[in-house]
Amino acid sequence: MNKTSNKGVIINSDDDVRVVLRNFFGQAMEKQTFDAVLMPMKVPSGDSYAWILIKDRDFLSDANPIAPIMPINAAVALKKLTRKGSGKLNIAVVMRPCEIRAAIELTKLNQINLDKITLLSYDCAGALPMQDYIADPAKNEKIFNEIISDDIWNSKDVKPVCKICDKFALCNL
Ligand code: SF4
Repeated sequence: MNKTSNKGVIINSDDDVRVVLRNFFGQAMEKQTFDAVLMPMKVPSGDSYAWILIKDRDFLSDANPIAPIMPINAAVALKKLTRKGSGKLNIAVVMRPCEIRAAIELTKLNQINLDKITLLSYDCAGALPMQDYIADPAKNEKIFNEIISDDIWNSKDVKPVCKICDKFALCNL
C-alpha cells in the first residue's frame, strides 16, 4: 500500500478493483473498524441496483461497490439512513465523488448526520444511463466492466453529465 496524499492511498493488486474493495471492507468489518457498510447491490430482478446496509460479511460478495448505474444518489440513501440520528453502528459508505459532494451539502443542511459515518470515494470513470442499462443489463454490465478494467476515462457510453464532469477525481474532493 502506497500513501499518495493525506486523502488516499494506492492499494496494489492485480484483482478487479471491486474485488479489492469487497475484501478491504470484509477485513475492516472483521477487525471491527466498521460495523456495517452501505453499498449498492443488484436487485433480484437484475435490472437495477439498490443501496443496502450490509452488517453480515457473507453478503459482501453480492455487493458492487462501483455499480454501473446510479438509480438514486447515494446521498439520498444516506439521508434516509440517518434521518433519525446517528444510530449505534459505525458505517462505511462508498460513494462516487459527486455523491460525496451532495452528502456534504445535505450535512450542512442538517439532513444527514455523519457522526458515525465514514465516507469513502474513488476516481470515477462515470456511470451508465439508466435507460440503456434497463434495456439490456447484461450488455451494459459488460460495457462497464471494460470501462473499469481497461481504465477508460473518456467512454462514449457514460451519462452526458459524466462526459463533462471535471470533478471525478478523489483529489478534487
Ligand atoms: S463522472 Fe462525475 S458526475 Fe459522473 S458519476 Fe462520476 S463523479 Fe458523478
